Amino acid sequence: MKKLGFGMMRLPLTDPNVQGQVDLEQVCAMVDTFLERGFTYFDTAYMYHDHNSERVVRKALVERHPRESFTLATKLPLSMMKDSTPADQERIFNEQLEKCGVAYFDYYLLHNLNKETYARAQQLGSFAFLQEKKAAGLVRHAGFSFHDTADLLDEILTAHPEVEFVQLQINYLDWDSENVQSRRCYETAVKHGKQVVVMEPVKGGSLAHMLPEAEALLRSAHPDWSIPSWGIRFAASLDHVMVVLSGMSDLEQVRDNTGYMADFQPLTEAERQTVFQAAEILRKSIAIPCTACRYCVEGCPQNIAIPEYFELYNTSYQMGGRTSPALRMRYGFLQKDHGKASDCVACGQCESACPQHIEITQWLKKVAAVLEN
Ligand code: SF4
Ligand code: SF4
Repeated sequence: MKKLGFGMMRLPLTDPNVQGQVDLEQVCAMVDTFLERGFTYFDTAYMYHDHNSERVVRKALVERHPRESFTLATKLPLSMMKDSTPADQERIFNEQLEKCGVAYFDYYLLHNLNKETYARAQQLGSFAFLQEKKAAGLVRHAGFSFHDTADLLDEILTAHPEVEFVQLQINYLDWDSENVQSRRCYETAVKHGKQVVVMEPVKGGSLAHMLPEAEALLRSAHPDWSIPSWGIRFAASLDHVMVVLSGMSDLEQVRDNTGYMADFQPLTEAERQTVFQAAEILRKSIAIPCTACRYCVEGCPQNIAIPEYFELYNTSYQMGGRTSPALRMRYGFLQKDHGKASDCVACGQCESACPQHIEITQWLKKVAAVLEN
């Protein structure tokens, strides 16, 4: 299988303010080009595009191309299943088959495992549910997507060796970060002998439009390479990566990605050093020196996702104070389980716990100004 997958979560819209209104005509052209060029992997999820992405997959892909010409991945939405019972998994799964118009899924994932959702998955028996679907021939390969520490990943993979693959956030800016832990998570998956699907190779678009100094460095190495292609090439160069997902938003992005990924050549050591130099430049422009140690989180009466919000703010800062749809989407996603930045009641509990002495309450006001505006 070629190492580029089509992420169906940032599709072109007919109304830029309505996530559910996807430009189906353009998506059909994107899907056709992707398949014509020999690529086969499509990734969707229950909640993408206001719960509409799976229906778009049906119309643009399933109803227009032979089932054996593509592989399809979707996910069980654990983060929205707080009050669910085990029976809800069956209901949602059947709904997904119907929405996508397929008789089986090639890849099926537990969506967004972290400390909270892993506990929920254990309560609901989600890992056993996946194996039942596999035994029934309704799922070909079972895995999960993951957003937490390498230590938790290690714990989950030790407890569930039956899982075949994991989907990880891997990009060159977060390769050694304490928050995302791309490298450590990748190495943990490799240690357990798992294949890796990469998500967010361009960090939600922030490695597509970057600081001029970093961009100039990349351009000087390869003037003919697009800036986002560096992120996808970096992730695809890792040996145990099965496929790198790109959430493509127009036909031009499909043409660019499929062009250099058709006959993919891994980065050389010199090229890897170039991306790490660019990452170093980007890191120097970080506004909030949060190390994501999470000491501040426990005890917050509003359950505010402080390090995650600070990471989003820093990403926005690196983009010159702008936000992207991906950043706003991630901020909204985090709010399903956490308070907003503006919910802070300034009790001060977090600041007394922060080893970096960050003025958390002041920064949260800035986060709210940027991401809630
Ligand atoms: S000051 Fe705000 S963020 Fe910090 S613990 Fe209190 S409510 Fe939470
Ligand atoms: S305690 Fe300070 S450095 Fe640690 S995660 Fe919280 S804000 Fe970041």
